[in-house]
Amino acid sequence: MSTIMDGEALSLKIQEEMKHKVKNCMIRPSVAVIQVGSDPASDSYIKRKEKACNAVGVYFRHCKFEEDTPELTIINKIKELNNDEYVNGILVQLPLPARYNEKRILNSISNSKDVDGLTDINTGRMINGRKTLVPCTPLGVMRILKEYEIPIEGKHVVIVGRSKLVGRPLMTLMLQENATVTICHSKTSNLKEMTKQADILVCAVGNPKMITADMVKEGAVVIDVGINRVDNKLCGDVDFAAVSKKASFITPVPKGIGPMTVAMLLENIITCYENKPVTK
Ligand code: NDP
Repeated sequence: MSTIMDGEALSLKIQEEMKHKVKNCMIRPSVAVIQVGSDPASDSYIKRKEKACNAVGVYFRHCKFEEDTPELTIINKIKELNNDEYVNGILVQLPLPARYNEKRILNSISNSKDVDGLTDINTGRMINGRKTLVPCTPLGVMRILKEYEIPIEGKHVVIVGRSKLVGRPLMTLMLQENATVTICHSKTSNLKEMTKQADILVCAVGNPKMITADMVKEGAVVIDVGINRVDNKLCGDVDFAAVSKKASFITPVPKGIGPMTVAMLLENIITCYENKPVTK
């Protein structure tokens, strides 16, 4: 039987640390979240972020746009927030409706306020091992592994999913920790052969219970990033009941990487605040 890695408890511990930091800030740190359209999943993610910000004392500004808003209006709003010295962090809730140019919108965020670490400049800095803002979910994965003292150096990490939000930045962070990394995606022809080799298996696809027990090596560490809704209940990409009998450590869904992502967002907001010269 595996150890269940409690992302919820760890995120509450991090929230307490952030609360303490916010108390010592001269000006209340703040974040602005841009939402376009009204996707129910996005609504619920934004609510969770707002709740966490309120809990630690970060001012949360929600900028909501109708689905047919011109792209320029959104970019102009981001530019206004870039120039607002009282806004420390800016994030665009993804996914944007298909008609928008996501890259153009993300790249209009000032690099120093990019709490999701998704501008091209911040991505390039991360790949080159420079200090920068890093996407929250991969950061959350690294943090929970650290908390449970799981060694990474020399381990074979297999990541299923190559998105710019999760898989790709996680690959970079794992390489920086001297793991051997394999990254799989929808065109990988022998997925099971790959996943079975993993000392640490991370799944970030969005396909309920696709990782079955026969795809996992005995004693592997299994990190489930996926969030899926089946019969009105949340589940991950991993068949938790079966895989938890084989893994040494496993994250649940919910209460795994989801709360860790929000905790890392709080850390990134405080990083943005601390990096800003305080003028008042
Ligand atoms: P994307 O849709 O951007 O990426 C999904 C990735 O999975 C792609 O690389 C895709 O391959 C790959 N993929 C799809 N089908 C298969 C398959 N059958 N076998 C192997 N790989 C496959 O999703 P995200 O990265 O944004 O999110 C992934 C999941 O993680 C979702 O469930 C999302 O809700 C969740 N998530 C959770 C977060 C959290 O806080 N816990 C935060 C962010 C996301 P290809 O590139 O070839 O298309």
